[in-house]
Amino acid sequence: MCSHAVCPALPGLPEVKITASQDKILEGGNLTFVCEVEGSPTLTVRWQTEALHSHFFTKLQESRDSVLELVLYLTNVSSKDNLHNLTCEAENQAGPGERMVQLDIEFPARINFLKNAVPQHHWCFPFAVDGNPEPNITWLYNGKKLNETRYIYTQPIIDSGDGSVKHGCLFLDKPTHINNGNYTLIVENKLGRDEATVYVAVGLGVFACKLLLIMVLVVYKCGHHSKFGIHRSSVLGKEDDLAVSLRFMNFGTSPPSSDEDSGLSSFVENPQYFCSIIKDKDMCVQHIKRQDIVLKWELGEGAFGKVYLAECANLSPDNDKMLVAIKTLKDANESTRQDFQREAELLTVLQHQHIVRFYGVCTDGEPLAMVFEYMRHGDLNRFLRAHGPDAHILDESKMPPLGELTLPQMLHIAAQIASGMVYLASLHFVHRDLATRNCLVGEGLVVKIGDFGMSRDIYSTDYYRVGGRTMLPIRWMPPESIMYRKFTTESDIWSFGVVLWEIFTYGKQPWYQLSNSEAIECITQGRELERPRTCPKEVYLLMQGCWQREPQQRMVMKDIHSRLLALVKNPPVYLDILG
Ligand code: AMP
Repeated sequence: MCSHAVCPALPGLPEVKITASQDKILEGGNLTFVCEVEGSPTLTVRWQTEALHSHFFTKLQESRDSVLELVLYLTNVSSKDNLHNLTCEAENQAGPGERMVQLDIEFPARINFLKNAVPQHHWCFPFAVDGNPEPNITWLYNGKKLNETRYIYTQPIIDSGDGSVKHGCLFLDKPTHINNGNYTLIVENKLGRDEATVYVAVGLGVFACKLLLIMVLVVYKCGHHSKFGIHRSSVLGKEDDLAVSLRFMNFGTSPPSSDEDSGLSSFVENPQYFCSIIKDKDMCVQHIKRQDIVLKWELGEGAFGKVYLAECANLSPDNDKMLVAIKTLKDANESTRQDFQREAELLTVLQHQHIVRFYGVCTDGEPLAMVFEYMRHGDLNRFLRAHGPDAHILDESKMPPLGELTLPQMLHIAAQIASGMVYLASLHFVHRDLATRNCLVGEGLVVKIGDFGMSRDIYSTDYYRVGGRTMLPIRWMPPESIMYRKFTTESDIWSFGVVLWEIFTYGKQPWYQLSNSEAIECITQGRELERPRTCPKEVYLLMQGCWQREPQQRMVMKDIHSRLLALVKNPPVYLDILG
């Protein structure tokens, strides 16, 4: 303790001011921002430039006593930085201070894309346009101005989260051949104009769809493969009965044997819900009307059908329309329909803040579909790679890389998955395929376990085909699962350790340097994945706790979760010695 007289006066927080050379700038021009920091002694001052697309350089100058000026020069400014929040941050002994300005970069109107429709009751021609000032949007039909009506109209997507880019759809409500023709999108602002055309052929579209369905049926019947878990192994413990039913998450696997079926009975169908009694609980699956769903565009393709972004009406009382992800089922025979219902019932049971939310099914007509909450940033593996050091090599769009994930962010991601796994373990549900490719990322770095089915074709190299049909994610599996097909809560814990490793390597494939058979050899011989360079020892200890050879010796999910929460609160300091 020191008395008042001896203590030096505590400095105040740094005061940050930003002055710009001008408010607006044309794309390609130059802009200067001066960040003035008062409050001595200032220890650091910096501009956050990580997400900037424009060329820039900075210069530090001292103007008057205890005032620092850090000048940011932007040259040849890029329209991609329009609406970008430019932040100057400073720190002194009293703490941090910061100020933000928004870039206002003018550029001509342009069309980023205009795509063909996904045909259903409503046809939606998705488009994305950009421009500053905000462009005016008009449509031509066969070269003449299109007068929008309640049957044909432009529908903007509010808050698409894509900077200044405006997303939307041209909607055609139940079009017929009368609506066939060229639809031209025109965007204009004071700086320029752009146009693009799509051709609508309703008759052809329906025919193409039917043809596709026939082809899909043929391919599906011939090439139908099942997930690794479909043959219930006799070594599965009793705890696994929910999981056994949940294997129907892979649409279209074989029907259950009677003992597996014991938890499910009394199937009832009504127009709004179908219900069944699962373990003495009434489980009603919400039924969503097809007319309430408007598909927007494809998000991806799983092994059992396409996944679409859609807008769904009447889902919740406080939300008129909501963005959702729709998983469609390519084939629907009697047996796959039953599996589908079973899966829906089980998804209805799983409700947790770190399990992707399931809203219900749509079964009036084809294709059968399941409706899930939309997770804007897609699967976690892709997200990790896009936020890692190799993002610039992997990114096909040639956009500048996004910022790298920080240690607290990685810990936050891991803690959320652990929380979902604690919940699944409490239901005695064994996931069997926990991996970052099966987790989804939403707004504000919210992460949820999002896929219980066979993973996507794009991740097929993560699986090892055995015996022709079965696909095994061997790189995520412990020795006992590889050798004896034994899947338990403890084997999920091993996989969680591998997920931690994936997070701290920004989405690398475990044992990427080895072939499948070499990886199997290493795992069964007891070799461990190496500590990732950015991984603190506290986290590597957790991984090693998951990779104990004896399943009973592995850490339990609850403890892993608590450890991670503690690390999130108090992130360890780590030294990247190798780097
Ligand atoms: P899946 O059929 O689950 O393998 O998903 C295929 C693709 O759709 C993946 O690239 C996912 O990123 C995407 N996807 C699946 N579910 C969602 C969702 N709920 N929200 C956003 N994207 C999703």
